[in-house]
Formats: sequence, structure tokens, C-alpha cells
Amino acid sequence: MRLGIDLGGTKIEIIALDDAGKERLRRRIPTPQGSYYDILQAIAQLVRDVEAELGQQGSLGIGTPGALSRATGCLKNSNSVALNGQPILQDLEALLQRKVQINNDANCFALSEAMDGAASGAAVVFGVILGTGVGAGIVVNGRILTGPNGIAGEWGHNPLPWPQAHELPGPPCYCGKQGCIETFLSGPGMTKLHQIDTKESVRPELVEGKDSLTLSPEEIVARAEQGDAICERSMQRYENRLARSLAHVINILDPDVIVLGGGMSNIERLYANVPKLWGNWVFSDRVDTRLVKHQFGDSSGVRGAAWL
Ligand SMILES: [Zn+2]
Repeated sequence: MRLGIDLGGTKIEIIALDDAGKERLRRRIPTPQGSYYDILQAIAQLVRDVEAELGQQGSLGIGTPGALSRATGCLKNSNSVALNGQPILQDLEALLQRKVQINNDANCFALSEAMDGAASGAAVVFGVILGTGVGAGIVVNGRILTGPNGIAGEWGHNPLPWPQAHELPGPPCYCGKQGCIETFLSGPGMTKLHQIDTKESVRPELVEGKDSLTLSPEEIVARAEQGDAICERSMQRYENRLARSLAHVINILDPDVIVLGGGMSNIERLYANVPKLWGNWVFSDRVDTRLVKHQFGDSSGVRGAAWL
């Protein structure tokens, strides 16, 4: 039996898979706020409860934002501040008396989709999360590529490639730079850029109130479908930027499959339109890389953790 845990800032989810990858049980609890020790105890209790219920011990993998520092063995870059700088792997191994695997949540997403999801059977997989942030992971022959810095696939804070004049210097990013891919391709990024473009292209008196400026990505997609020209332009700009950003990856990694996850991956038109565009920037006479939608959605993180 394989146990996977998705450790996030607001919830801890556990899944139990049998050896064939079939789900046996799944449970979710809120992440204790504040104390590192409380989070450790909550994880250990969750594992003990599930194993008692199923009458069996399992291997344990944990997916979480951030990465383990090779220098210190402690977690870094996590958005759960209580976990940063803590030797979580050592502590959990001591608490649960077994080997534990920990990896980045975007890497777990890529692994889950590569093992038995939308990229099943592909040798090289680039798994992308397009959500409130932008991240990615690389899986080669069923194994996560981690790298000496623990950041392989971290692509969201590279600059948007082949920028056009109106895209420079680009929106400010929380990382301290400007024009990061994340500022263009995240959900909040799309809303923000649509707002800026709308202000530039429409006389204020023609805009029907504030709401038409601050549209969610879902609303922009829906209005573009109904023929709204400005929303359609925002969609085309998004597709063009995603195509450029992925062409950059294809030129370096040349993956068999790119699988999209996160909220923005539910925009169906991306899968037809982006591959029609990326050939403009890929250094090849043709592009056989497939762009596919996730199979397991929000469950990929926890499934991938179980596969670690
Ligand atoms: Zn950034």
C-alpha cells in the first residue's frame, strides 16, 4: 500500500493507493495554524488512523510547496511559513519510524499524470500548474528530476520569452523581478492584464461600471465565447504568451507531453490553439510534443505524493 499526503497551507489531504494505483481511502483535515510541532503531530496522527482503519502499513510520500535544501536538509521556499527552515523529513521519519519521501507539489502533479494519468507512458513529461501561481515539474522515465538545487522545472519566475514592446518591462512580481511568466500566465495575472488592456483600449465612459474591468478568468473566457472583442483579444494574448513560454521549454527539454493543471487548465480552447502557435518559436521543422489536460485535477498532487 502507498500513502500520499498533500501538505498545503490550509489543508492536509491523505490518500491510500493499492499496488495497482487504485484509491482505497482519502481523508482531509485543516492544517493546524501556527506551530510546526502541531503540523507534525497532525500528519503522524492521520497516517496512524488510516493504517489502523486499513489494517496495513504503507510507504509514505509527501508533496508540499517548496523544496528540501540539500545543504541543511530543511524545507525552503514553502508558503507555509511554519515549515520553512524545519527538518521535516528527519522529524517525520523519527516520529513514524520509517523512510519518508518529500517532494515539491508541482513535481508530484507531474509524476501523478506521468504514472497513470494524461501523460501515461510518455518518457519525458513537463507538468505545469497554471493557478494562482505558476510552477512546473519534470518527470523522466517515471522519475522526478529534482536537480542539485531542488528547483528543476521552476519556470514561473523566468521572464516571458520573446516579449513584445507593450509587454515590457512587465508586471511586478512578488519575487522582486518584473515580467515573470507567472505575472502573465497565472489566474490573477490574466485578470490584471485584462484590466490594463481594457483601460487602454476603451474610453472610460463606454465601460459598464467597474465590474467589466476586473473580470475573473472564467468570465473573460465566457465573454470571449459570446463574441466580446476585448475579452477575445485577452484570450488570444494569453494563448500567445503560453505558446511562447512553452516553446522556450520545448527548445531546452523537448518533452513528449506537456500536461496542464491548476485552474487555468480548465480553459478548453488552450489545447487546440496553443500547439498551433508554438511552432513559431520552436527551433524545429515540426513539433510533435502533445499538450494535454490533466486527468486527476486537484487529486494529482496527493496521488503523485503516493507514487514518490
Ligand atoms: Zn517572479
